[in-house]
Amino acid sequence: MSASLATAHDLLHSVFGFGGFRPGQEEIVQAVLDGEDVLAIMPTGSGKSLCYQLPAIARPGLTVVVSPLIALMRDQVRALSAAGVAAGSLNSSNEPAENGRVMKLLRQRELRLLYVAPERLARPDTVEMLCESDVRLMAIDEAHCVSQWGHDFRPEYLSLGTLGRQIGGKLQTMALTATADGPTRSDIADKLFDKPPRTFVRSFDRPNLKLAFRSKERSSRQVVAFVREHPAESGIVYCASRRKVEELAETLRKEGVDALPYHAGLDKAVRDRNQDTFQQKDGVVMTATVAFGMGIDKPDVRFVCHADLPANVEAYYQEIGRAGRDGLPADTLTLYGLGDMQLRRMQIEQSETPDERKRVERQRLNALLALAEAPRCRRQTLLAYFGESSEPCGNCDLCQEGVERFDATIEAQKAMSAIVRTGERFGMEHLVAILTGDSTDNVQRYNHHKLPTFGVGKDRKAAEWRSIFRQLSATGLIQQDFLEHGRWFVTDAGWQVLKGSQRIELRKEMAQPKTSRREKKAAAASLVVGDADSALLTALKGLRAKLAQAQRVPAYVVFSDRTLIELATHRPDSLRAMREIHGVGDAKLERYGAAFLEVIQGSASP
Ligand code: ADP
Ligand code: ZN
Repeated sequence: MSASLATAHDLLHSVFGFGGFRPGQEEIVQAVLDGEDVLAIMPTGSGKSLCYQLPAIARPGLTVVVSPLIALMRDQVRALSAAGVAAGSLNSSNEPAENGRVMKLLRQRELRLLYVAPERLARPDTVEMLCESDVRLMAIDEAHCVSQWGHDFRPEYLSLGTLGRQIGGKLQTMALTATADGPTRSDIADKLFDKPPRTFVRSFDRPNLKLAFRSKERSSRQVVAFVREHPAESGIVYCASRRKVEELAETLRKEGVDALPYHAGLDKAVRDRNQDTFQQKDGVVMTATVAFGMGIDKPDVRFVCHADLPANVEAYYQEIGRAGRDGLPADTLTLYGLGDMQLRRMQIEQSETPDERKRVERQRLNALLALAEAPRCRRQTLLAYFGESSEPCGNCDLCQEGVERFDATIEAQKAMSAIVRTGERFGMEHLVAILTGDSTDNVQRYNHHKLPTFGVGKDRKAAEWRSIFRQLSATGLIQQDFLEHGRWFVTDAGWQVLKGSQRIELRKEMAQPKTSRREKKAAAASLVVGDADSALLTALKGLRAKLAQAQRVPAYVVFSDRTLIELATHRPDSLRAMREIHGVGDAKLERYGAAFLEVIQGSASP
């Protein structure tokens, strides 16, 4: 181990209180300490920030961190300050006093990390000041913003390369992002670096996230049931519309859940307040549109639920990625229904985008549906989409509950004959009614109760037939015409099965768990809490909340969940013993150690 890497190891322990590096961090820190330019591509929550924070503290000089996300900057500065590191930020929402503090530390050359928004960095006075400040490293966070391929393109990022040269001649540069696709990657290398950087790509696997999909039956009930499996835990429920956000927040509140809404239609003041509450308080559930999440840096989000189908696989992965950033088990559930798929298809078909783009969007949607109806380990399917191969994970619904397949030729024939016999003019609910023998008004109006197909599918529930339609569509036997009210028609491949010259297997619709919910809940809780004494844990959380409130910082800035769980499990009996606990560095030990020790000593052993 080189001398500087040894220092980094010490600091990892004494400043951050971490027992070791996370996968990928050590190589990157080493490369930065060796003076190399680095491009690091790591999924959200994998611990990118540490890769520049640690070298910044281990070496003399100033590290400038460029980030477009002001809330994230603020949180990082707070967390670093709490760990005893001189850090500050320059951005448009700073108080004058904060600016004064930062400038003073800069002049005294005591500041180790300076977070700057890109527009601020571009100002001549900032550049001039930084020229005088012994800048050693420029770390560019969210580096994909430099690429015009992505959704987050920010023109100010284009000038960062030039600015770096102005500030430091050959300033060491580091770019970090969680966006993986090829064109974006080469764009970053091209626009931010003079010569190809040393590139590190970390696996996109997040093994602590449990993955599950369920078809929508009564979505708000399903959401409530899922949220209730996670009492007093922080979580996010994503919805497709503002109205649903409001309704679900209301429903959850009636169930006694501390739920808040978030969408772009709310007053900015309300939105900000709800976001702050979510960030700072324990156990808040945010029901939100996808407007919520960018820049949320809360490590202890314990679950993410999609009440509606996400936009595509990337969006899905980014959104569930907001859970379990602390590496502890976190739960995710995505509900999908045919209505969602129809809506999404229609949005694509009717949009003004060029055909090429539509084709890409259709493929991306199909990839998502394939994930929803995956016949094997969901994580394998997901990682395969990102170009990684893997073993069955054991932490997804398909690994745990299995997926049974059956010869569904007869069912396929029944469904398709309902389509054909009604002239390929009807949507799914009507066809399902015919199959299950349900004489709805429409069925009577069209005389469809007289068809030979009427009631041939009585042996299955409507929900099962919906799943069969979905799967037949996913396997290409039937298709929907979205410009004509989503009427179904049979494709050439479908006719092969209908005529009996080809057989087909489908997955059985997953049974809803009946008896096992309580067992599952107990198992999930024990995974997180392990041997921790839960009364003590509650007391520790209480103290954390009190301290956090007094200092107006989010609870996790005081201590993370993992730290509290370890405290409750190991019950350290001295400050020295407490020092061995994850997340307890020197600064926090001094500031909080005694108070937490008192709570531990005051509580009886289990
Ligand atoms: P990213 O920027 O990659 O999304 P962060 O840098 O915000 O992730 O890190 C996510 C969480 O992981 C933070 O709470 C951070 O304190 C924690 N973390 C980072 N490195 C380690 C480590 N080596 N050991 C334990 N926790 C870590
Ligand atoms: Zn799996």
